[in-house]
Amino acid sequence: MLDNVMRQFNNAADIIELNKNIRKILEVTNNEFIVHFPVRMDNGEVEIFTGYRVQHNNALGPYKGGLRYHPTVDIDAARALAMWMTWKTSLAGLPYGGAKGGIQLDPTKYSQDELQRITRRFTYALGDNIGPELDIPAPDVNTNAQTMAWILDTYMSTKSPNERSKNLHVVTGKPIGAGGSEGRDRATGYGVFLTIKFWAENKKVDLKNKRFIVQGFGNVGYWAAHFLEKEGAILTAVQDAYGSIYNEDGISTEKLLEYVQANKGSILGFSGANTMDSADFFGLDCDICIPAALGNQITVENAPKIKARLIAEGANGPTDVKAEEILLKRGVDIIPDILCNSGGVIGSYFEWLQNRNGEIWHLDEVLEKLEKKMRESFGKVVHKAKSKKVDMRTAAFIIAIERLEETYVQRGIFP
Ligand code: NAD
Repeated sequence: MLDNVMRQFNNAADIIELNKNIRKILEVTNNEFIVHFPVRMDNGEVEIFTGYRVQHNNALGPYKGGLRYHPTVDIDAARALAMWMTWKTSLAGLPYGGAKGGIQLDPTKYSQDELQRITRRFTYALGDNIGPELDIPAPDVNTNAQTMAWILDTYMSTKSPNERSKNLHVVTGKPIGAGGSEGRDRATGYGVFLTIKFWAENKKVDLKNKRFIVQGFGNVGYWAAHFLEKEGAILTAVQDAYGSIYNEDGISTEKLLEYVQANKGSILGFSGANTMDSADFFGLDCDICIPAALGNQITVENAPKIKARLIAEGANGPTDVKAEEILLKRGVDIIPDILCNSGGVIGSYFEWLQNRNGEIWHLDEVLEKLEKKMRESFGKVVHKAKSKKVDMRTAAFIIAIERLEETYVQRGIFP
């Protein structure tokens, strides 16, 4: 993933002939924390965990980005994902920089009590290297609103009583009762849907009866599917960490969600679809493909087989650079991750603003503001792609980098 994000950055930086000193700054991360910490397991044994937080750049504002609990989390993955966050927040016009982190573990191997103790001890180990005006984590793969509530509670508990409520915005994606925002749960998936809707408007495509497939049926995949289904599109296949399912006549997103929640997060065994070979997933006949799981899923091996006309990147870094070349040559449109899934960080920004200002917004207000911001970003990317004669990803990177370049030129380099 690091190789991919660097190539994407260099490609855009070359096109705009980015100032070479600013390029040097943006090529590296500002801060990298690796923490090893002990946690008592349910059986009384102590296990040592390794957690990461990489802060790439904060020229535009506090670092912002998710925390992921997955065996593939390491320093390079955190670096790559932190860089993508910088481009994403810059593109969205938010007052944030980019960060990412997590813990290298398989959460299915731990009880809820253990995950709570792991999360709290990780938060304690990060200490004041995160903070509401410094670095604000959010949910990502295998972390959720509950994880954020534990982080908030631990972080606040380490502050003196008169400081505690000032720190409500140390994390976003919290449960509503713990200071979360209406709509943050669906913000990323809704944003993915919106970008598909804007694409369809541009291309004069009717989404009704269009067939789509989704990799990853978690927060992002489910909500994107939910809104597309409401628009009349038909979900025909889903893949998750456990396998793949298919039904030509359509899979009900709500029934599948109900099943997954009762089946420890797995889609396998769902009666409304048949199991299929995961190797054939991306080659399925469909109109829209939504990768909403991990990075590097669309590769040179499966890119030539893809039949979808549009790939909407719900996940971060799902398409590798070489696969993208193949797809673009074949005329497949790609809504790039830093645009497609930016609804999440925009929703987080709204939560952060509400916490900071002591406000509570209604769901309709949140979704309306989100749509306005995403439409603005989408329009800018389409316009830049046309004017520079580049693909949407390159256009999105150019907008993001130019904003940072302007900031550095105006501020200069200290001292
Ligand atoms: P999640 O943990 O809620 O869901 C992840 C889903 O991916 C699960 O269904 C899981 O089974 C599936 N999965 C895991 N490994 C897989 C594999 N090898 N093959 C197929 N499926 C696999 O995570 P999420 O929050 O929905 O995040 C999904 C993606 O979206 C990630 O790339 C994340 O960085 C990105 N993203 C998330 C948010 C957010 O707000 N949650 C915001 C922006 C981007």
